[in-house]
Amino acid sequence: MGACAGDAPRQRVAILGCTGSIGTQALDVCRQHADRLQVVALSAHARTSELVAAAREFGVSHVAVTDPAHAADPVLSELPSGCELDVGAAAACRIAALDDVDTVLVSVVGAAGLEASHAVLAAGKRLALANKESLVVGGDLLMPLAAPGQLLPVDSEHAAIFQCLLGEDARELHTIWLTCSGGPFFGRTARELAGVGVAGALAHPTWSMGAKITIDSATLMNKGLERIEAMHLFGVDLDRIQVVIQRESKIHSMVEYADGSVIAHLGASDMRIPIQYAFSYPERWSTPAPRVDFRTLGSLTFAAPDMDSFRCLALAEEAGRVGGTMPCVLNAANEVAVDAFLHDRVGFTDIPRVVEACMDAHERDQVRSIAQLRDIDAWARVRACEQLARIAG
Ligand code: MG
Repeated sequence: MGACAGDAPRQRVAILGCTGSIGTQALDVCRQHADRLQVVALSAHARTSELVAAAREFGVSHVAVTDPAHAADPVLSELPSGCELDVGAAAACRIAALDDVDTVLVSVVGAAGLEASHAVLAAGKRLALANKESLVVGGDLLMPLAAPGQLLPVDSEHAAIFQCLLGEDARELHTIWLTCSGGPFFGRTARELAGVGVAGALAHPTWSMGAKITIDSATLMNKGLERIEAMHLFGVDLDRIQVVIQRESKIHSMVEYADGSVIAHLGASDMRIPIQYAFSYPERWSTPAPRVDFRTLGSLTFAAPDMDSFRCLALAEEAGRVGGTMPCVLNAANEVAVDAFLHDRVGFTDIPRVVEACMDAHERDQVRSIAQLRDIDAWARVRACEQLARIAG
């Protein structure tokens, strides 16, 4: 081993949501760079055996189980000696605020990530953010807390935009080109989309991800949420953030400047790259991820998104424009509708129907607190369930 990395103290990392797709890939990054990264705390919602296996491998000092139904799983007796176990929904926030943690990767799924992200920023730690819902729902609360360089986006597009902005003057930004693979149903009409099933929607052409985000990628809600995420993260008007279909997922996003120059971020479709950059910034470290050989890539194709067929993209645009508490309603209703679709209780095109009905029933308010957002999120979920019952019945 060279002396350079070994001499510096290791960055102490906590991973919230360590058993999901992003969490396990983050553990892989920590394995690759064990001389620079020390995993000290982990949380999982319900998959306690995977949590215990990771806790033992990395010898962590703190773990949290956020689903109380799994707080007494027998496997937890196999945690390494001296490892403290915390349980319940708020346990992840307590891990985020631990003294001996430098960086927290928030990779939990859905609106549940907001409170943890808030806790990380409030504690003055680096936030590696893989939970886009935190910003979609609570961007108005989070961004004022984030110092420059404190919030590192892990979402591949936003990690790309962040890098395209390095060393540039944000006032010279003209347009953010947010790239989108188009998902498995690119080119289909609204009528064709009405008949698609769960298996087809889960077959993403270019990225391997968890079930919820894969469905969001098929409806293009994911891109709608990412547009709102970018609006908060980079302080840019929605009109300056354009979605462009890039089928090969090799361009991860682009930034166009006042003089017409466009800076793009390219690379393999491998989430370990943006996860690692959120830890390594401002440095760049080596990666075992595959590399793109541009001689064999052939072509890069571009298209405009079809917002009439993919209604979720249009609904997210409306929520982003209205702002305030509306994105919270969009997100909560979508989470409920996607879960129902995954369980075969409603059709694919019922997802935007449910979301739209909830947005229509909501009167926008200014975002004031996490407690207020929690109430609105709960209201939207009840409302979405009522809509689902109407559709299913
Ligand atoms: Mg993304």
